[in-house]
Amino acid sequence: MSDVRYWNKEIETAGRSEIETVQLDRLRGIVTSALNAPFYKKQLCKVGINSAEDIKSLDDLRRIPFAEKDDLRQNYPKGFLAVEPGEVVRIHTSSGTTGIPTVIYLTAADLNAATDLLARSIVATGAGREDVFQNMMSYGLFTGGLGLHYGAERVGMMVIPAGGGNTKRQVQLMKDFQTTVLHITPSYLLHIDSKLADYGVTLEQLNLKKAFIGAEPHSENARCKIEDTYRIDAYNSYGLSEMNGPGVAFECVYKNDLHVWEDAYIVEIIDSETGQILPDGQEGEVVLTNLIRHAMPLMRYRTRDLAFIHTEPCKCGRSHRRLSRILGRTDDMLIINGVNVFPSQIEEVIMRIPEVGTNYQIYIEKDGVLDRLTVKVELYSKMFLGEAKQIEKLKAKIREELSASITIKPAVELHEPGILPVSEGKAVRVVDSRKQL
Ligand code: AMP
Ligand code: ZN
Repeated sequence: MSDVRYWNKEIETAGRSEIETVQLDRLRGIVTSALNAPFYKKQLCKVGINSAEDIKSLDDLRRIPFAEKDDLRQNYPKGFLAVEPGEVVRIHTSSGTTGIPTVIYLTAADLNAATDLLARSIVATGAGREDVFQNMMSYGLFTGGLGLHYGAERVGMMVIPAGGGNTKRQVQLMKDFQTTVLHITPSYLLHIDSKLADYGVTLEQLNLKKAFIGAEPHSENARCKIEDTYRIDAYNSYGLSEMNGPGVAFECVYKNDLHVWEDAYIVEIIDSETGQILPDGQEGEVVLTNLIRHAMPLMRYRTRDLAFIHTEPCKCGRSHRRLSRILGRTDDMLIINGVNVFPSQIEEVIMRIPEVGTNYQIYIEKDGVLDRLTVKVELYSKMFLGEAKQIEKLKAKIREELSASITIKPAVELHEPGILPVSEGKAVRVVDSRKQL
């Protein structure tokens, strides 16, 4: 792979000690700002941090208590605000995937720093000013849309601010402007393929080369399916609104997990039960400290995302360590008849079955005292032209493979394409009706 490009080579390839020097310096700056925020004034005082002078080394970060989503909610709307309201130029909120939204504030300088990380992320994938970038994430309070938009403009790409939804128009835009790079959720991208024929558009009429996929969990098999279907390279993009959205970690041209931009974020992996810090390579909860946002400092934030850190060097020459893809959440684990199941395990299995199309849903309901799990999947339409016996055989195969992975035998329903509900943003993959009981 020769197309290794850098946005800021010096920092992207800096040695560990240089990165740590930047981290320490920025952490002190963030602590200074944090002491202006009501929440942190109390928190930091409690642990004897009264000024940046009390942060002598990066180890002192560990004196700062973890922050959680509940802290953000309980201190809504201004408990984390560390600057005069007049200095704030933008707010964003989380999409509320897991509950009521939380708010973040940015000064002009914060926004500039965040935009730079997005430009860096884009360039790391080999994309550049020659590309046409169609941003299919929703614009507005959600950070996904505006974040990448400004990053792409900074790189000098031609930006099509398409936003989410309206698939027919999206395809038209791709065709008319010969879009080369998409920013989109993986589930929506998988869905679009089934629509191309309806619109009378072939892949050959498009000019797609890359997709930045993120905002929701997806498996390596889902990525492969996207790459095979569209004949493109798909790069995993990770972020969360509490950390300014996308641009926390991004894959480079080697697509071998995601470089965390460590001059801007300190990443720790902890045991989510005990809070203990885990060594590199071990899976646990991702904890992030934002080093570039002064309007609203957030340190040691428990993301509830599960992943691990790679330490081997990457062939691209970047020294920033890589985060594995998100392997699940500490809070999306389903317990079905006493067995722990992550939806990502189910996706992993069904996406490697070639007859399975692009949409699926996981249903859990009560069946007497027991739980019943049903996995509903759409098949490619050509499957329905075959014999019923063949469909039954396939159903049994999916069931077997699922039970080998999750250790319980789910019911499997096979559907023609277009039957299951489609989301144009984040897919609703799990319907757990037990919760409503
Ligand atoms: P939001 O704050 O609405 O942007 O949601 C952030 C959450 O979306 C993260 O904490 C992750 O759980 C999930 N997410 C974002 N990007 C990815 C990704 N590339 N892979 C898996 N999950 C992701
Ligand atoms: Zn790399």
